[in-house]
Amino acid sequence: MAETTTPVYQPGVIVKRYAVFGQPIGHSRSPFIHARFGEQCGIALTYSAIDAGSGTFPSALEAFAAGGGRGANVTLPLKGLAATFCAELGVHARRTGVVNTLTRVTGGWRGNNTDGVGLVKDIADRHRIDLRGRRVLMIGAGGAVAGVLPALLDAGVAHITLVNRTPERADELSDRIGEPARVRTLYWADLPNTGAYDCIINGTSAGQLREPLQLPFSIAAPRTLCYDLSYGRAAVDFLAWGRAAGCEHVLDGAGMLVEQAAESFHVWHGVRPDTEPVYQALKRDLERG
Ligand code: NAP
Repeated sequence: MAETTTPVYQPGVIVKRYAVFGQPIGHSRSPFIHARFGEQCGIALTYSAIDAGSGTFPSALEAFAAGGGRGANVTLPLKGLAATFCAELGVHARRTGVVNTLTRVTGGWRGNNTDGVGLVKDIADRHRIDLRGRRVLMIGAGGAVAGVLPALLDAGVAHITLVNRTPERADELSDRIGEPARVRTLYWADLPNTGAYDCIINGTSAGQLREPLQLPFSIAAPRTLCYDLSYGRAAVDFLAWGRAAGCEHVLDGAGMLVEQAAESFHVWHGVRPDTEPVYQALKRDLERG
């Protein structure tokens, strides 16, 4: 099990222990972000990246709790599994069955999902783009997409069309959300006949695998917002597609990453950090590769 630690020490202060679990996890920027938040807010903490897949996650989480772990983020492929470990679920986690934030409580773990709030804050607050009334095409139906749907609906988008390589997963997710008037599904092969969307979100992991998505330009218009939940190198292909399609706004998920981390930080520490300097530092770090 690989573990990297970014400690923030303060003499005479008990250091609180946090971590992110996932696989692969070596690329995770969450230790960097939480260390900056801790410094900024004067909270002594360690935040580690712990390599764990579905098979090893239960024992790894148990060992983490036994070692004093107070809270954890979970990422691919553990967001659904993590929800099954929770004695309590927050409202967004309950609506979707996926969790990205675990907090140690009496009797076990409390699960929250901060991905959706992070996405909406990045689009609406940082980039000042109004989501209300937008017709959204969401590509993908994995843990990240499930996590962001409730917050997008709450932000007032008109409707969301789900398209996924494996169509059954999109259908299952749409059923789970249970708002047929606002969340519908589409076959990938029907994309050329569907017209342009106001907002196209790539929620697949195709960019990490460097497998460019096959998308027709007809789904984009000049005012379309193209947003990739991925960031850094993994977002290059989709953002290049958005630019080639002539879209005005083309954004990667670096801002969402910082905002969802800030929401988790608030859940754990009761303090809301200033995200802008950390976002700027992360962008510089990503540009360096
Ligand atoms: P996941 O649960 O494993 O789901 C992966 C999704 O990608 C599935 O819908 C899968 O389709 C699709 N996919 C994979 N390869 C594909 C390909 N070659 N062509 C088309 N579709 C493909 O992963 P996840 O947790 O949802 O994460 C998805 C992405 O979001 C990751 O890149 C992750 O880094 C990013 N993310 C970013 C943030 C942030 O804060 N910025 C937060 C969470 C996640 P099938 O169902 O057909 O397999």
